[in-house]
Amino acid sequence: MKRFKKIAVMVLAAGLSMPAFADGKGKAAQWAYEGAYGPERWAALSPENAKCSQGTRQSPVNIMDREVIVSELESIQFHYQPSAYRFEHNGHTLQVTPAGENYVVIRGMRYELIQFHFHAPSEERINFRNFSMVAHFVHKNAEGRLAVIGVLLDAGGANPAMDHLWAHLPLSKGDTVEPKTALVDLMQLLPKERAYFQFIGSLTTPPCSEGVLWTLFQEPVKIRPEQASVFLKVVGMNARPVQPLNQRVVRYSR
Ligand SMILES: [Zn+2]
Repeated sequence: MKRFKKIAVMVLAAGLSMPAFADGKGKAAQWAYEGAYGPERWAALSPENAKCSQGTRQSPVNIMDREVIVSELESIQFHYQPSAYRFEHNGHTLQVTPAGENYVVIRGMRYELIQFHFHAPSEERINFRNFSMVAHFVHKNAEGRLAVIGVLLDAGGANPAMDHLWAHLPLSKGDTVEPKTALVDLMQLLPKERAYFQFIGSLTTPPCSEGVLWTLFQEPVKIRPEQASVFLKVVGMNARPVQPLNQRVVRYSR
């Protein structure tokens, strides 16, 4: 009897830490932005997510513009083309995977664009202020190092690339849109002023891996307010809370 009870408790505990996965993609998929699978619990959900609680260089961060190191760095070179793309709702965000050759050169190193996706509200903050949304452009170099470029999206205007993408929006989890002829002009998603903050951080989703080179443009791009509210309806709030900077230095380049 005693032994049976113990097994029952183990099964129950296993059931709590390894829930059923409705999307069939395996256990790595099970995390969320609120509740029992929310950011405070990410590390507890899988040993692979240990950095989410033990890391010391986590993202996102709040940047105080009076505390940055001002320097004249090389501007980032964008080699983005109007591109065919796949637009998908992966359960955590809306993600665009462009086809063709798109890359940036940061600090003399070439990084290929893999995908970009959105968060609402913006995960990054400047002087504790957040914005309606942020776009994260995820790049990888030949050695596998990640460089993410963040573009803040501020409600109160219109952007042709955002208008184009929102006209092709995936409507629910698992939905994928792959237009046959439409191209998205990626350069339209960048601000005109290219002053930026740069720092070392992590993925902002599990497994929260560190060693990511982050660049955040200071100037936001204007979007229509309803684009943020549509995103919140389709995906929901998907911003991880800001993480401590600890000993990290943030550089600022005009
Ligand atoms: Zn992101």
